Amino acid sequence: MNTRRIPELFGSMVFNDKAMRAYLPEETYLALKRTIKNGKSLDKTIAGTVAAAMRDWALERGATHFTHWFQPMTGITAEKHDSFITPDNADGILMEFSGKELIKGEPDASSFPHGGLRATFEARGYTAWDPTAYAFIKDETLCIPTVFYSYGGEALDKKTPLLRSEEALNRQAMRIIRLFGNEDVTKTQTTVGPEQEYFLIDESVYRARKDLVLCGRTLFGAMPPKGQEMDDHYFGTLKPRVNAFMKDLDEELWKLGIYARTEHNEAAPAQHELAPIYSRTNTATDHNQLTMELMKKVAARHGMACLLHEKPFYGVNGSGKHNNWSISTNTGVNLLEPGDSPQENTQFLLFLAAVIKAVDEHQDLMRFSIASAGNDHRLGGNEAPPAIVSMFLGDDLNAILLAIEEGTVYAPENAMVMKGGVHTLPRFSRDATDRNRTSPFAFTNNKFEFRMPGASASIADPNIILNTIIADTLAQFADFLENAEDLNEALQQLIQNTIKKHKRIIFNGNNYSSEWVEEAERRGLLNLPTTMDVLPYFVSPENIELFTRHKVFTAEEMRSRYEIMVENYCKTLQIEARTLIDMIKSDILPSAFREEQQVANTLLKKREALSGLPSKAEESLLRQLADLADRLHSGCFHFEKNLQKAQNIKDFYEQGLYYRDHIFTGLQELRGIIDEMETIIPAENWPFPTYYDLLFSVH
Ligand code: ADP
Ligand code: MG
Repeated sequence: MNTRRIPELFGSMVFNDKAMRAYLPEETYLALKRTIKNGKSLDKTIAGTVAAAMRDWALERGATHFTHWFQPMTGITAEKHDSFITPDNADGILMEFSGKELIKGEPDASSFPHGGLRATFEARGYTAWDPTAYAFIKDETLCIPTVFYSYGGEALDKKTPLLRSEEALNRQAMRIIRLFGNEDVTKTQTTVGPEQEYFLIDESVYRARKDLVLCGRTLFGAMPPKGQEMDDHYFGTLKPRVNAFMKDLDEELWKLGIYARTEHNEAAPAQHELAPIYSRTNTATDHNQLTMELMKKVAARHGMACLLHEKPFYGVNGSGKHNNWSISTNTGVNLLEPGDSPQENTQFLLFLAAVIKAVDEHQDLMRFSIASAGNDHRLGGNEAPPAIVSMFLGDDLNAILLAIEEGTVYAPENAMVMKGGVHTLPRFSRDATDRNRTSPFAFTNNKFEFRMPGASASIADPNIILNTIIADTLAQFADFLENAEDLNEALQQLIQNTIKKHKRIIFNGNNYSSEWVEEAERRGLLNLPTTMDVLPYFVSPENIELFTRHKVFTAEEMRSRYEIMVENYCKTLQIEARTLIDMIKSDILPSAFREEQQVANTLLKKREALSGLPSKAEESLLRQLADLADRLHSGCFHFEKNLQKAQNIKDFYEQGLYYRDHIFTGLQELRGIIDEMETIIPAENWPFPTYYDLLFSVH
């Protein structure tokens, strides 16, 4: 491409500040900017003007339709397109888009997950424009980012609580900032840079695997002779098709104003990663959804399928989404960066202490925020953080915290000294903080990297949790400090006490080792290996109290979300179970029978030809095949019975437990038999592409 075009291309499909300035009358532009800045709803009188400008802008760029674009509890985005056409009463049409259509929508929402919040007779759901996110054009359609709520005003989406959690954190962070006498700051905001992992395989092999198409992951597949043992794929040269895909993807993302920046191969064969430059959390969340959608679309254009499942293949790495998180002020100061003055350094230590306390006290919520049936396959695997939440801070910071805890002075060359009760900190070198890749939550220079989220999930959930638990801790800090007689002394005491009390959450060793599991238990940390273990924690009385106190969720919203998550878990396993049963019955067993027949025929023919010919190989193979076919047949029979039982359980939580204990495990057991079969049935008789075919399909 013509590289000079890139700056012009960037954001060309976004109704961003530049477009607003160009298409809106000055006073409307200023009113809209005020609305965006203050997070208030848009003045109805200017909505019409904004809508007309958006329409003109969109028509010039080839858009024919508009849609409210929202993020229901499915975890993906939803849209319903309406065209701009309106009859002009002279047998013709006008292209219209009104202020009312911009501000509010009423999609027929009865089929979106609502967890009991919306009785079916009251199926109405509403979407309302979120002016803090830019409108954009995708597929010739003007997309208006919106929130989605029920008739009773309860949130039915992921964006509403995310925006509320941002407000909650801002309220409390501002109290702290005021204590430090900082008057220029009027607002804080969190920033996120989500690194997205994914697999690319050839479309033809993808289509031939029903499990990949229906479940997003392979339900069986024997390991090929070579997996990721040699680590030769990581950062390796990009294959031409992958390179072409990435270039094309970058271009599509840039048009939408998404700062796609880093693209590289990941550890597993066929695995890749895309990292954008970080942005405001609301924007980053929208952008990550668009990135996932475009990855799939652009891959299809290149004859490939993009897999976003957390664990598409056993035996090689799964895919995560590292959520890099920080908080900064509207004056551009990153609050997780040690500053230039002792004052700023103490402020940094206070925010750091808040994160440490929050993560330790709310391990359950951290684990909850990334829980899904898909991610259960990945957490605790040898490539992903375990299901135990802990933090990594790096050597420098650890030494500093230790010195604070013990009331001593930390003094290497780039010393931290205490002057008049305040800390002077060195800037941390990248190296010192970036060494541990096994920690679920690592401090990396000036941000935290939360590595537990799964590749397919919305990043709204982990960020809602992070924002809220840190808001709550800051609130407690502010309560204490605002009443202190001597602020400096109180700060010292608070930071020191917090470290003493919560240092058990800090772990700098290898999180993948079995020793860590034992050590974590000794420390009293939570170990919640499966989604079903963690979901009930969300609706504990303390957690309901926490979220309602900060107005992030109502109690009803929480219960409904809990119900939806259990339901999702059951549905995921139900689909996987049905898919596997179908594949076994219609393809795997029949091919085993055919193979048996072939071997038996050979055996008979041999005997007919000449009795006493050696035939141990055929006999043993036939026995092995018959045994496996028998085991698979009876295993599948029991599995089907269990599935029926699961479907008939009335209590939704009991049902979830049953799915975990009988279906999840049943899937593994059947897979063991199938994988064994695959290794003895010749490739030409095996009805599906193998792991070799899948993982090495793109060249
Ligand atoms: P890596 O983790 O691969 O070594 P980087 O540390 O450069 O790479 O960045 C990882 C991600 O963290 C990028 O998406 C980057 O934009 C993001 N990031 C950097 N600074 C911040 C910040 N202050 N807030 C949120 N995300 C950030
Ligand atoms: Mg990273």
